[in-house]
Amino acid sequence: MDNFINAVKAGFVSHAYIFLGSDEVGCAKAKIFAQTVNCENPELAPCGFCKNCRKISNGTHPDFMEISAEGASIKIDQVRTLIQILAGMPMEAAIRVCIVREAHKMTPEAQNALLKTLEEPSSRSTVVLVTDNLKLLLPTIVSRCQVMDFGSGKDGIDVSFDTRKMLSQIMLRAMKDPDFEPGTSSAQVAGLDEECERLLGFLASMYRDILVVKTKSSAQLINDDLADIIGQCAERICTKSAAKMLEKILYQTVVAKSKGNQNLIWYNVFRDFQEVVRW
Ligand SMILES: [Zn+2]
Repeated sequence: MDNFINAVKAGFVSHAYIFLGSDEVGCAKAKIFAQTVNCENPELAPCGFCKNCRKISNGTHPDFMEISAEGASIKIDQVRTLIQILAGMPMEAAIRVCIVREAHKMTPEAQNALLKTLEEPSSRSTVVLVTDNLKLLLPTIVSRCQVMDFGSGKDGIDVSFDTRKMLSQIMLRAMKDPDFEPGTSSAQVAGLDEECERLLGFLASMYRDILVVKTKSSAQLINDDLADIIGQCAERICTKSAAKMLEKILYQTVVAKSKGNQNLIWYNVFRDFQEVVRW
């Protein structure tokens, strides 16, 4: 979380996030995010005691709002109301924050309605979709959001340099070597004494970095020590494919969490690495 808050404080604020994790954890993080971007004491943000921090904390800030399921689903009318609010300027906040709790409960119609807003965001609003079930969201929604995984607490930052280098080389080889064999590499990685989720977290951070390069964002690379490989990978795929690949890795993280077969997880990831250049 600290990495995330530090990035936000450095000015890297996305207009749309998916906070992956339980509803409780996701909403708590969204509150900290809203306080951080609106705190009156930037150097202490979130200070917890300024007017904005307090209003957000006790739920009385007019620009900090949430929608949640009415009955079994989040309906299109609820999303339409949200879109209308998002179209206007915030009343008090520097950045308005709207949370969609259990976002996977949005009906497909509701998701489609929200999509346009995510494509053409208003500059002073951020939408946070909280979910623990990424695969119930439309891929088009996922690819327009920055995905923050708060569920596992494993963002791959603590993987050793040697392992990160090895995985990133497999990634590059899959993209450029026509003789690449996903099966050989998957057995090699499954045999490592490393947690699958952690390694997938690292690969997700690599694709996030590729997207930073592709979109010419001024954001800092998470893996700046692998900038060369990131640059080479970025040359080989388009932005849309990179977003789609990120989504696939996050899907495999969900499989890994439910104790899926590691060999198969890696095989699927590496085969996708190989195919991503043709998407
Ligand atoms: Zn404050």
